[in-house]
Amino acid sequence: MDAANISGELTKVLLTEKQILERVGELAAEVEKDYKDQDLLLVGVLKGAIVLMSDFSRAMDRQVEIEWMAVSSYGSGTKSSGVVRILKDLDADVTGRNILVIEDILDSGLTLSWLRSNLESRGAKSVEILTLLRKPEAVKVEINPKYVGFDIPTEFVVGYGLDYSENYRNLRDIAVLSPHIYS
Ligand code: IMP
Ligand code: MG
Repeated sequence: MDAANISGELTKVLLTEKQILERVGELAAEVEKDYKDQDLLLVGVLKGAIVLMSDFSRAMDRQVEIEWMAVSSYGSGTKSSGVVRILKDLDADVTGRNILVIEDILDSGLTLSWLRSNLESRGAKSVEILTLLRKPEAVKVEINPKYVGFDIPTEFVVGYGLDYSENYRNLRDIAVLSPHIYS
């Protein structure tokens, strides 16, 4: 879906598909270099990371394994609750593996800091985080993602996998959702 088709629901396009893909390619090259000759397991966080995972994993010129987890920290609103539940767990044993968590956005960081310690407690060799977007709020928590696509302002964004109430995930660009949609 193109932003032009739903312009009445968006305040502005923040990042175009082209800008995103360019950055995703840079991140893939960086990760490739950092994990050269090492095992690498990508763990995507459902559902927000689906679009990023498909572009990012294909941009890498090496073998990777892909696993998925679904956790919930949000209701259908726009604020993190801090309560994390596992809705879908990993299929693979991660003992001794190098895990790179693939996440759409880092906001309060509550979800990811919980996820990181959960994966570490299962005996992973390393757990690093790649997030496409990071909001200013996230800088306050000790989460330290190794790879960040873009730092964005504190606004509610949708598209490229990111949703509002399960909608807009299939928008090609990343756009600021017009407040009249959720207020
Ligand atoms: P955190 O625990 O506050 O870091 O929340 C992270 C999760 O909240 C992300 O994985 C998203 O699913 C959701 N989220 C946070 N900000 C936004 C946004 O601007 N748009 C859509 N989803 C968001
Ligand atoms: Mg998410």
